[in-house]
Amino acid sequence: IFGDIFGGGGGGGRRGGAGRGADLQYTLELSLEEAVHGSESRIRIPSQVRCDTCNGSGARPGTSPTACPTCNGQGQVRMQQGFFSIQQACPDCRGRGTVIQSPCSDCSGSGTVQKTKTLQVKVPAGVDDGDQIRLAGEGQGSASGGSGDLYVQIRIRQHPIFSRDGDNLYCEMPISIAMATLGGEIEIPTLSGRAQLKVPPESQSERVFRLKSKGVRNVRSGAVGDLFCKIKIETPVNLSRKQKELLREFDDMLKAGGERHSPRESSWSDRLKSFFTTS
Ligand SMILES: [Zn+2]
Ligand SMILES: [Zn+2]
Repeated sequence: IFGDIFGGGGGGGRRGGAGRGADLQYTLELSLEEAVHGSESRIRIPSQVRCDTCNGSGARPGTSPTACPTCNGQGQVRMQQGFFSIQQACPDCRGRGTVIQSPCSDCSGSGTVQKTKTLQVKVPAGVDDGDQIRLAGEGQGSASGGSGDLYVQIRIRQHPIFSRDGDNLYCEMPISIAMATLGGEIEIPTLSGRAQLKVPPESQSERVFRLKSKGVRNVRSGAVGDLFCKIKIETPVNLSRKQKELLREFDDMLKAGGERHSPRESSWSDRLKSFFTTS
């Protein structure tokens, strides 16, 4: 079934006329991939449906409901209260106007039975957390036959790599100091396969790269978002004595070059010096 789709928040609440069954809410958990590419889910929902044995009348087959003696089948009774006469729903038949002498054994006279329905729900590509899909007529049934609607609320599980904000996706990629310094190509994941990302030489940590149209296709507008990939320079760990030695040697060479090699550190230490001399 393909339902109408609503944004988060509002949606539900269409109250039908008298006798219509209640609306139902179901929370459907999806992975980010399922939400982005669309999916089909089989859901099982406990629901009240019209009793087949009595066709919803509540009366044992072969018998039928009879007019309520309290209200003479009117469904309403008049109550005298002081000078006023108030009309209200009959307490014995609860406004129905009929009573059941011999109730249907399958539904105990209610006209509806509890059943677990299995539905195949088509989730359109691009749905977001909090979106609702309305399946008209798949809600609670009622004795008179009119059913409420089923609202399937989308919940998206956390993804190990990507976070999502609207149509855009975000990820972080750790890269080595050498890669950040010399530049190169890294392979990054996207939801539609792998992509190559060119890291320019002298890229600083936290630099964000934008991959156009590698985000999510909007379920309503069809516009496609972008993927934002932030590089994080990873400090090497578990270095051997030899590696540390080389790194110190390399660092000494950098220091000899002064602000040429690390302009930010130099300007920062200048600011620090002037901070201590002025205060
Ligand atoms: Zn029945
Ligand atoms: Zn009555």
